[in-house]
Amino acid sequence: MLKNDKISFTLIGGEKEIGANCYYLNVNGTGIILEAGLHPEKKGIESLPDFEILKNFDTDYALISHSHIDHIGALPYLIQKYPHIKIYTTPQTRDIAEVMLHNSLFLSQKEILDTDPLPYYPREQIDLLIETFNIIKVKESIELEGYHHKSIKPIEISVFDAGHILGSAGFLLKTANHKIFFTGDTCASKQTIMAGADYPNENIDILILECTTATNETTITRKEEIKRFIKAINKIVDNGGSILIPVFALGKLQEMLALLNTLMKKGSIPELDVYTGGLGTEISSIYDLHRYTSKRTNNKIILKNIPQSQLNQENLLSDKYFKVPSIVLASSGMVFENTVSYLLAQRWLKYKNFAIFFVGYLDPKSPGYRILNSNKNDVIKLTASTEEIKIMCDVDYFRFSTHSNREELINLVKILKPKTLILVHGEPEGMKWIQTKVQEKITDIKIIIPELGKEHQITN
Ligand SMILES: [Zn+2]
Repeated sequence: MLKNDKISFTLIGGEKEIGANCYYLNVNGTGIILEAGLHPEKKGIESLPDFEILKNFDTDYALISHSHIDHIGALPYLIQKYPHIKIYTTPQTRDIAEVMLHNSLFLSQKEILDTDPLPYYPREQIDLLIETFNIIKVKESIELEGYHHKSIKPIEISVFDAGHILGSAGFLLKTANHKIFFTGDTCASKQTIMAGADYPNENIDILILECTTATNETTITRKEEIKRFIKAINKIVDNGGSILIPVFALGKLQEMLALLNTLMKKGSIPELDVYTGGLGTEISSIYDLHRYTSKRTNNKIILKNIPQSQLNQENLLSDKYFKVPSIVLASSGMVFENTVSYLLAQRWLKYKNFAIFFVGYLDPKSPGYRILNSNKNDVIKLTASTEEIKIMCDVDYFRFSTHSNREELINLVKILKPKTLILVHGEPEGMKWIQTKVQEKITDIKIIIPELGKEHQITN
């Protein structure tokens, strides 16, 4: 292998945490930004990646792996600061981004902050921003040439289905001498709708690996988890209770809706009213629209044909689900303050025959994490300023992850055989675990847990 490529990696946001993802790759002078996310838990300017760091570098392109806000939410601000950057993503991510960015900016600008709120960003500008997206489909390749270094051979970019949510992508970047693979958020095994990720069928030199689930031990299979889920639902329904499932409106809601429908059709759980609404319903229609343009377990799943009752903001705290056994799929997944799941949870927690089932990632600082990590009869406060609540209902967690588990992450490293492994998008203990496990199995590998703003030279 020739050594004359000059590649460096710099972390712009999301240092040893899950949120505000943003990374900068310099490949022979061409600047490629991977992701531009907001931190879901932080507020105002604090929630953005540190875009100032990019002033030290040439910037040409931004590749966006998918539309979760911790990957795309800061894109309007990145482009405001560096308007010349060309954005590339999949067609599905573009369609979802339109909904997600409008919603995220609406929410963040509603917050009244004492210090450093996000600058005002007009709605029309989001539409213009989406217009500028360049589309690259899964299994396609394009060549990108730097504005500043046109004489150097272009970089070939290929897109792989990441199996995480609709439109999610992994990116393979090839120079004459090096192959870099960025996983994005990745899910190797299939879910109810998504069919599992595809990966390059060749050895990689540099692997940029997400580590969301690396902190959690993998002890149970999806099949076993579904069995436990069925049993838990039946127990609550037999006692006349209802179940609140806090979900992300993008990805988790669609997967849970399809799973519940499958279980009802099989007779594993009774035919209950399932409540959905708001942003999640808008995104479900984009899932339906793209059911033939994306890799799915079954193209026949049409979410809008699954019977659903409408979550109604006006009678949220008095609706039928408080009287008739039902399942409510409400965002946010982490039960953030003033969201539908937050308002419902405050009341739900007081009913002893009810249950709250968590099914996704919980930030340790989120109200959802606090609920899950408390015991029955504990008195908790969901946020510092709210009333104390005694936990009377059942609380459980089911691993229906949209991410590869940590064994699958290790397996991917073994298959792709990178010489350099860069760990991103994870908690410090999780990344340490991956580092130790990989080093046990592969001796000749350089592992980087990047520090914010530090330019890590990968090749010289
Ligand atoms: Zn994601």
